[in-house]
Amino acid sequence: MPVTNAKEVNELMTLLGSAPLKRYGQNFLIDQKIIEDIIQAFQPQKKDNILEIGPGLGALTTHLVGSGAQVIAVEIDRKLSAFLQSNLKINGNLVVINQNILQTKLSAFPSPLRIISNLPYNITTLVIEKIIKESINVKDFLFMVQKEVIARLNAKVGTAEYGPLAIMLNLLTEGKSIMNIPREAFYPQPNVTSTIYYLSFTHLYDDYEVLGIFRLVKSMFLSRRKTIYNNLAIYLKNKNEAENTLNALGVLLNTRPEQLSPEVYLDLYRSLNSKK
Ligand code: SAM
Repeated sequence: MPVTNAKEVNELMTLLGSAPLKRYGQNFLIDQKIIEDIIQAFQPQKKDNILEIGPGLGALTTHLVGSGAQVIAVEIDRKLSAFLQSNLKINGNLVVINQNILQTKLSAFPSPLRIISNLPYNITTLVIEKIIKESINVKDFLFMVQKEVIARLNAKVGTAEYGPLAIMLNLLTEGKSIMNIPREAFYPQPNVTSTIYYLSFTHLYDDYEVLGIFRLVKSMFLSRRKTIYNNLAIYLKNKNEAENTLNALGVLLNTRPEQLSPEVYLDLYRSLNSKK
């Protein structure tokens, strides 16, 4: 039975001996039309291996399981996990794991993996970073996040939002905004509008390269106010090598980290790696 309003969420949570928990970012989807739109955008198929992060009361899970796909749902809340285990494991195509997704290895799941999540706001960035690092087995990822976060995911070079996340997603994925979701679609209502965003991984690099590029890019943004030369010199622990590498790439030493395109970061990574 879908949960369709605040009263039903509260009644069910009381029955489970709980209440919506802020610390786990528990804002449950209650608008059935929006839930259907999300599923329609994701298009689960029988042949799919799907990971749902934070299934909650099963608003999306019910539809995923109904598609016949193999579904793994990772939920940190013990009471919600137990509820899903006993209520949704009807067809044998759902595995519920009571675990913190940040401590879960994606390589333990079948590949290629499709991931879907109404992301808990407090761990949004950490989850996206995790998926980038472990993206070798990931086909695509559809998620709901605060509208403001999207600005950091598809930020253009030279803007204040441009940084490691935008660079990595530019190199590894094709992304698009699907639609905004009003606050009223959730209970409890969050303070912000959410957006559904979709990432399709293009798999142009192996996992070793992905980790290496990410490590380098993060280091170059450790201090945004420093020049790329200063950040690189610290990273390499070698001023001469930093200067020579940037000169060879035609990058001016006083360039700021946010002024370099994703392609230049890739060139920088490759030029450093070819010397090893
Ligand atoms: N998918 C449900 C929905 O759309 O109604 C619930 C979404 S709610 C925004 C986020 C869910 O993620 C909650 O069920 C919460 O308990 C769970 N969660 C929070 N932190 C988690 C973590 N680190 N690992 C796994 N699940 C987590």
